[in-house]
Amino acid sequence: MTASRSQALFERASEVTPGGVNSPVRAFHSVGGTPRFMVRGEGPYLWDADGNRYVDLVSSWGPMILGHAHPDVVRAVQDSAVHGLSFGTPTEGEIRLVEEIIDRVDPVHQVRLVNSGTEATMSAIRLARGFTERRKVIKFAGCYHGHVDALLAQAGSGVATLGLPTSPGVTGAQAADTIVLPYNDIEAVRKAFAENDSDNGGEIACVITEAAAGNMGAVAPVGDFNAQLRDLCHDNGALLIMDEVMTGFRVSRAGWYGIERVEGDLYTFGKVMSGGLPAAAFGGRSDVMARLAPSGPVYQAGTLSGNPVAVAAGLATLKAATDEVYLALDRNATRLGGLFTAALTEAGVAHRVQFAGNLVSVFFTDDEVRDYAGAQAAETWRFPPFFHALLERGVYPPPSAFEAWFVNAAMGEEEFEIIADALPHAARAAREAVK
Ligand SMILES: *Cc1c(COP(=O)(O)O)cnc(C)c1O
Repeated sequence: MTASRSQALFERASEVTPGGVNSPVRAFHSVGGTPRFMVRGEGPYLWDADGNRYVDLVSSWGPMILGHAHPDVVRAVQDSAVHGLSFGTPTEGEIRLVEEIIDRVDPVHQVRLVNSGTEATMSAIRLARGFTERRKVIKFAGCYHGHVDALLAQAGSGVATLGLPTSPGVTGAQAADTIVLPYNDIEAVRKAFAENDSDNGGEIACVITEAAAGNMGAVAPVGDFNAQLRDLCHDNGALLIMDEVMTGFRVSRAGWYGIERVEGDLYTFGKVMSGGLPAAAFGGRSDVMARLAPSGPVYQAGTLSGNPVAVAAGLATLKAATDEVYLALDRNATRLGGLFTAALTEAGVAHRVQFAGNLVSVFFTDDEVRDYAGAQAAETWRFPPFFHALLERGVYPPPSAFEAWFVNAAMGEEEFEIIADALPHAARAAREAVK
């Protein structure tokens, strides 16, 4: 398999863009080698600039649950585009998309559309602070909520891949009101609330959590962790923000809420609801959302928010995401996890396949991974050769040991045969890896 055209493009890109990519996880920083420049996607496949075809297990980091270039979505985008690209006025399409979101996720009564998941979490935090008139935010190590200054501390995923504890450029003041706790550790949350009551220098505005963590690999909430978070928030007058940017409309029709009925006060969405174009959202309780401008004083805005073409892509994706699609996603995730287990067991590599709904991860460890420390304790150095053995054989995995794998509903027998043929090679490469 040659990558000479990707290599030439990467060299050209590196001249004009830091690291040659417009989002760090796209670089092959932690796995080495040349990032593949893609030219086309159709169904379960991607094609790169050298003409290589891959079974895509990244699905644009989540959005493409239907596979690439789904005819309904492409048609919706084309139909919308011919009528103009942006008006800077309200449009009916925005109402339709928001109504679809509200219809799917019961605790969400009002929604504001934005352009990225980062904007959604940033705005939700601002709104929570404005609503409660408090400063502090609790987040969990290994949970990623976009590159919001206050939320970059121990943010898993891309930051973890680069080995950064947090980010230069985030000031002490921006991070000072962020309390970072271990995921799945409810006692730590209880203690933080006790230490930050009104008698102890400032109360907690909100807890933000991934409804099920997907940015340190797939790490589901253990037991009733989410329900206990909700209770602690309510007992202490704080809001619970469920970040469903990754899980929303992917792990079920109603996202993680469809799997575990714990009501957040605010929700953030992105990825799937965008259909692959830039669109995201936050929403929740009407009394909280009413604090948002122009109905309330908490300011939030966006020139391209609710863009008609993006909204059309998102709505077409959600309309096409039927119960059968969710069954296919679950089936494909289970099947992929089974193939991981079979190949790694056969090769004698210590491993743990974890699921959060239909998000799948493979950790090179014997132990269950319940938090970020667990994810980091795994033998992540086995991942690069595992990754490259798959890539060489026409499978496109996430280029990081700290990412979930994203199946899509377009995958079928042929694609699973390609994966099943490639995995034994990858498993042997992982076994032979040197630290
Ligand atoms: C991807 C992601 C974000 C950030 O979304 P962007 O659109 O990349 O800004 C926020 N939260 C979670 C849980 C995510 O997975």
